[in-house]
Amino acid sequence: MIKLRNKTQIEKLRESGRIAAGALRLAGELAKPGTTLISIDTAIRHFIESHGAVPSFLNYNGFPASACISVNDEVIHGIPDGRRLQEGDIVSIDVGAYYKGFHGDCANTFGVGEISEEAKRLIEVTKASFFKGFGMIAENNRIGDIASAVQETAESAGFSVVREYVGHGVGENLHESPDVPNYGRPGRGPRLMTGMVFAVEPMICQHSAEVKVLSNEWTVVTVDKGLAAHYENTVALTENGPVILTDAD
Ligand code: MG
Repeated sequence: MIKLRNKTQIEKLRESGRIAAGALRLAGELAKPGTTLISIDTAIRHFIESHGAVPSFLNYNGFPASACISVNDEVIHGIPDGRRLQEGDIVSIDVGAYYKGFHGDCANTFGVGEISEEAKRLIEVTKASFFKGFGMIAENNRIGDIASAVQETAESAGFSVVREYVGHGVGENLHESPDVPNYGRPGRGPRLMTGMVFAVEPMICQHSAEVKVLSNEWTVVTVDKGLAAHYENTVALTENGPVILTDAD
């Protein structure tokens, strides 16, 4: 069942989203050559906790950290550890914050120092695909309108779209209905209604979108070791149109 949120609930979701987005912004500032992944994770946890919130991902289905930090060919669900970021890496950081009963969920991919033109383009197209999808959010449009806009943006740039993992409703639970895929056909899927809150999160690959899970049972990587990027916001369809709830400001 897809829950519809009233104004009060959406304001609470916005508060959770602001904390998650603030932590993500901080993480981006820390993503420099030489920084360990675990130190970024620790900074994210401190930021979230200092705002009276709880990291949504910590212990979620046993996940051992506060953020998912995925480097280069890691797509999502990377586990932060003692590895150091290196010049030219790209790092995808996914943050969730739980505050006063609601979650906020957002992600971005950051370049570490100077990165290749191709890596820059992958990051830019991934973000652009989110905004193309976001632009399709309107009363009586369908989830498939968002999905196909994301897919079209990524594929027309020569990239590919992960199919095994999708966006999702966000509310009292981190993952709720509906699924929000990054591929699909216009006019298909659940109808969008005012009050719906969900995460749109393109996961885009440089080459093939074939992915596998590493033996740690979390980290999703591209099989061909091509780069991957991730961009996510929690959004709401309000009476005034779509809004991004994971806004740090
Ligand atoms: Mg998400």
